[in-house]
Amino acid sequence: MSDTFQRKPPRERRREQHRCTCGARFEVGHYGDPLLTAVPVDIKCPACGKSHMISVPKGTEKNLTVELAAGPEPETGGSG
Ligand SMILES: [Zn+2]
Repeated sequence: MSDTFQRKPPRERRREQHRCTCGARFEVGHYGDPLLTAVPVDIKCPACGKSHMISVPKGTEKNLTVELAAGPEPETGGSG
């Protein structure tokens, strides 16, 4: 038995932002490891219901969160 000092990364939710053709943006959150094999999943746009094929780490496809991302583009740091 060898004890390696390997720090396990905290299980934080990763978010991936996607944009729908309807103009809405939504974030898909999962707790998977991005280094794992990615599998395609069908995500529905929370705004219009249009389906999107995205890739998420294997095993997380049953435990996804889809949230509508409101507001302006994140890179344009609007004041207010
Ligand atoms: Zn949409």
